[in-house]
Amino acid sequence: MKALIALLPGDGIGPEVTAQAARVLAEVARLHGHDFELREALVGGVAIDRTGVPLPAETIALCRDADAVLLGAVGGPRGGPTEPVRPEQGLLALRRTLGVFANLRPAAMHPRLMGASPLKPAVLRGVDVLVVRELTGGIYFGEKRREPDWAEDLCAYSADEIARVVRVAATLAKSRKGRLTSVDKANVLETSRLWREVATRVVHEDFPGVQLDHQLVDSCALRLLQKPSEYDVIVTENLFGDILSDLTAVLGGSIGMLPSASLGEEGGPGLYEPVHGSAPDIAGTGIANPYGAIGSVALLLRHSLHLEAEAAAVEAAIAAALESGALTVDVSDRDDRACKTAEIGDAVVHALSLHKETR
Ligand code: NAD
Repeated sequence: MKALIALLPGDGIGPEVTAQAARVLAEVARLHGHDFELREALVGGVAIDRTGVPLPAETIALCRDADAVLLGAVGGPRGGPTEPVRPEQGLLALRRTLGVFANLRPAAMHPRLMGASPLKPAVLRGVDVLVVRELTGGIYFGEKRREPDWAEDLCAYSADEIARVVRVAATLAKSRKGRLTSVDKANVLETSRLWREVATRVVHEDFPGVQLDHQLVDSCALRLLQKPSEYDVIVTENLFGDILSDLTAVLGGSIGMLPSASLGEEGGPGLYEPVHGSAPDIAGTGIANPYGAIGSVALLLRHSLHLEAEAAAVEAAIAAALESGALTVDVSDRDDRACKTAEIGDAVVHALSLHKETR
């Protein structure tokens, strides 16, 4: 298969982890006879430094033409929340430009990483949860008003915006264990009451085999830490999904482990990125965990290129690399044996070729 992939390394540890993800993509292409062209472009702080804007027009044009976009992270030591031009604006604008309204954040516990989580192994066993977060609506995109001693952020959702993301989540639930938990705050928010009504209607009308339940966001946060293995797919609005999906980082051992995919209408390019940020505290030290970025490659192969066998091969290679003890310092119980970022790339590429040989 021939595919154009826009590579947006971004800031901080973004270039370090995407370098390993790009190596894995190149190895998949070599082993399976694909022709993947990776074309690099600027986003975030590095784009502001070079062009004055966080999402240059050339980057937008490349991403629109591409089959998929692989991004590292944006955000830098400079540019706090009150700066007029901030790296994070580049990411929000890119999500809006690509119309990627469904953000998929899977979190699973690999047995080798049990010790890296503050939760007990008995709680973590069997955890395999997928949070589907609505990404282009809600309070993050609502009208904002500010006076010196007063501020307002509007949260609004239309029934269509809710229905399309619930459909994505229900389709994914159908391909997994068939359980969908819709999370809201329907006891106080009107948008949540609409969310609950629409989710119920969509699932009952179009997904009769999917078992739907509703939970309030506060009790979901509690249960995610008490009994995370009870969950299969969670679907929720933008703000709740942002918070809950970071919470699931505890279930995967480290935020560096978690991949994500952001999908829009069928046929448009998907956006793939690790869940973590630019981690300025460790940038340039070579210790960043690239598993989240490499896992995002698996999601890219599955959701944008529809190469399921190749996606599964990358996931198997990640599992094999973890099993072999290829662990960065954030997930290793022995600091003196921890691997550098590039060594994780070596281990996954090696496991990929072994996986191919045994097929
Ligand atoms: P962060 O995710 O960058 O870092 C949080 C903590 O996790 C830090 O201690 C960091 O060292 C550690 N960490 C993160 N990724 C890691 C990895 N791959 N391996 C090992 N350790 C890792 O979050 P933050 O510190 O709140 O934000 C830093 C900057 O990143 C800010 O400018 C923020 O706006 C931005 N940010 C960007 C994104 C994105 O690009 N999608 C997401 C979150 C935050």
